[in-house]
Amino acid sequence: MTRRVPLLSLLGCAILMFNLAIPNADATVNVVVSIAPQKWLVSRVGGEAIDSEILVPAGQDPHTFEPKPRQIARLAKARLYFTVGLPFEERLREKIDDAGIPVRFKNSAAGIVKIPCPEYGHEDGDVHPDQHDGKDDPHVWLSPANLMVMAQNIAQALSEADPANARPYANNLKKLQEELAALDRDIAGRLKAFAGASFYVFHPSFAYFARDYGLRQEAVEIEGKSPSPKQLQHLINEARKNKARVVFSQPQFDPKSAEAVARAIHGRVVPLDPLAYEVAANLNLMADSIAAALSHE
Ligand SMILES: [Zn+2]
Repeated sequence: MTRRVPLLSLLGCAILMFNLAIPNADATVNVVVSIAPQKWLVSRVGGEAIDSEILVPAGQDPHTFEPKPRQIARLAKARLYFTVGLPFEERLREKIDDAGIPVRFKNSAAGIVKIPCPEYGHEDGDVHPDQHDGKDDPHVWLSPANLMVMAQNIAQALSEADPANARPYANNLKKLQEELAALDRDIAGRLKAFAGASFYVFHPSFAYFARDYGLRQEAVEIEGKSPSPKQLQHLINEARKNKARVVFSQPQFDPKSAEAVARAIHGRVVPLDPLAYEVAANLNLMADSIAAALSHE
């Protein structure tokens, strides 16, 4: 009995004196994220130490995504799963809990002030809740200010899971925050002249971008479906009134309705991908495209 104490304290001393590495199978933090922009954030904050996997396959609509056994098996190997607020994540959590898989769910969007979905409705007062079931708009990542919050959440979770690398994570976070703050100021400057203007999109991914920069997004898609002929006509009339010439399409969705609106207003369809990996560069491009569309060429 008396021997145990000295042995333990000896081990403790050895760890302190030689900074002994304790062999640990979990030395690398396996991370899974829902969508590509989160992977970019994790790579910027985690650097070389972290590699993450994206759950929703490229080109698929994350709103209607249902995780397959293959994806659940991936989660079983992960230590951290960064959610973002998509509808499938809660159902996934139930499956993971039922299966007794010990992966930790971390909400990368925690602390972001959400926009309720019914705000997608048109100005005429008839509100169209979209496919997110009247809950909060999940497209938080299309905003430099929100990305700063997400980066902070990710850095905190990585530091908790891997305290040995807390300092590099903090340094990476600081650098990323500075870049995102600069991007935010830059975009605000470029879009200032268009305050209050409407831009037309197929899928309503851009509510946070619009809120940040004083713009309005008008969506072709209603309740996750292509609009009825009457709804489409209403949108076309609004777009004509606003002298719009561009409809932004999203590659995860059929561009037919966007093309119909563009034809009716003698405009064109311009692609904007809400799920591009390099989300900061994508926001820059988005600002350019929207500025070009709003300056009526
Ligand atoms: Zn969406």
